[in-house]
Amino acid sequence: MYDCLKEECGVFGTRDYKNGSVFPYIYWGLRAQNHRGHQSHGITTFDGDFHNYKALDLVPKIKSADIQNWLNRLPGHVGIGNIRYTTSGGTDEQSLIKGTQPFMIEMGKAKLAIAFNGNIVNHFKLRNQIKERLPQFCYECDVELLGRKLVMELAKNRDLASSVRSCMNEIEGAFSVVGLTKNGELFAFKDHYGIKPLCCGHSPDGMMHAVSSETVGLNINGFDYDFELEPREFITASREGFNREQLVPCKRRALCAFEFAYFARPDSRLGKKFVYETREEFGRNLAKEYSEFVEDSDVIISLPETGDDVALGLHEATGLRWERAVRRHRYVTERAFILLSEERYATIDRKLNVLGSKIRGKRVAVTEDSIVRGDTTKVVVAKLRRMGAKKVYLFITFPRIIGPCFYGIDMATYGELIGSRHRPEEIAKIIGADAVNYLSISGFVKSVGMREDELCLACVTGKYPTPLAQKMADEMLEKFENGYKETGRIYEVSSVV
Ligand code: SF4
Repeated sequence: MYDCLKEECGVFGTRDYKNGSVFPYIYWGLRAQNHRGHQSHGITTFDGDFHNYKALDLVPKIKSADIQNWLNRLPGHVGIGNIRYTTSGGTDEQSLIKGTQPFMIEMGKAKLAIAFNGNIVNHFKLRNQIKERLPQFCYECDVELLGRKLVMELAKNRDLASSVRSCMNEIEGAFSVVGLTKNGELFAFKDHYGIKPLCCGHSPDGMMHAVSSETVGLNINGFDYDFELEPREFITASREGFNREQLVPCKRRALCAFEFAYFARPDSRLGKKFVYETREEFGRNLAKEYSEFVEDSDVIISLPETGDDVALGLHEATGLRWERAVRRHRYVTERAFILLSEERYATIDRKLNVLGSKIRGKRVAVTEDSIVRGDTTKVVVAKLRRMGAKKVYLFITFPRIIGPCFYGIDMATYGELIGSRHRPEEIAKIIGADAVNYLSISGFVKSVGMREDELCLACVTGKYPTPLAQKMADEMLEKFENGYKETGRIYEVSSVV
């Protein structure tokens, strides 16, 4: 994906029943998932007291000489961590620092640390509820809302499970949460539909449990994968051991479909298989749906890395040669979005090196995960042409994005989405390609191997799993089609609350 789409967040939490230090496990759990959030990161550990560390940017490398300092600074046998890209609250440096997770929240005798991956849709209602109780409350970001709601419930002398149940019942949105209580209890839970991934595993000796957004966070620590949390499931790891509880019956799953195409690492397990297996299947199904374009191609090339497994599937299905003609400059890691708009294009251009010798004079079938705004796909296509490609056929694994996301992916208006305004033929013209071949929704679902009603596909179907999101989307679409100019994230400016 070179379309400047920003990732969401990742979480990790673990408890050592032998009372060993958990900092190294959280550190590696976050490093393995840094692709899910680059803007900030943080760790909270607990050894009777809470210990916090927060910073902007990527999780840093730690020099051997500094390890003991880190262990001293973040002691404890239980802890949680987060890497974040913001989809709520401000994006200036001050707001980013304030919004860095885990968040510490206290009310009366209740105190906890909390971190999440997601986005709250009914945040106006929640803010008002909180303000009634705490007039001085000033909203910074969604995790604070969730945390405050939780401590407000705890402060009513409710137990943790009942307090979490209240949050599940009253908060609409996507939230995969990890937290720590002042008793050193690690807990985790998911929203109604399980929109964001969150899995659980254990160490080989069974003396540690961990939760992680992706299974790669477990793998890097040598932990075994146990299960993906169900929607509305609540787990705890405490002195009493590990416990799973279905707090509210799960009626429907709606796992974010975009995880399969773009966000999740190919070596993570999601649904019934590894993500790379799903991506290979995308390639095989693209071959079936667009055989005439494959027949008119001389070579397959992939945009690393999300297009690589797709290219393998396409190659296997068609026998067409796959050339690794596009290489990444591995250490050019600047994120386009932090630069000036004119610099964004140069940055994408700099990140990719195209081997002209492999594509000159050829008709190329290019595998790519998605097109969101289209501006940077245009840069990639122009570069392929500059290096001599005769024809450029794009094979896109994620179906055409026609609507915003309310659940934590930063595509939050209709106007910014090229697919909400244009059909594939028009998009091809705008970005300079000879064809844009999107995988169909049915082909996508078949590749994933789950039922359509087990996935969130809202941004490609316009059917949102949660009611308020649907209302806001319908309201804004009508306005947008009548020429209304959107002024911000749909869930922050909509009049439907
Ligand atoms: S709307 Fe799209 S990006 Fe957002 S959660 Fe659903 S599938 Fe994922």
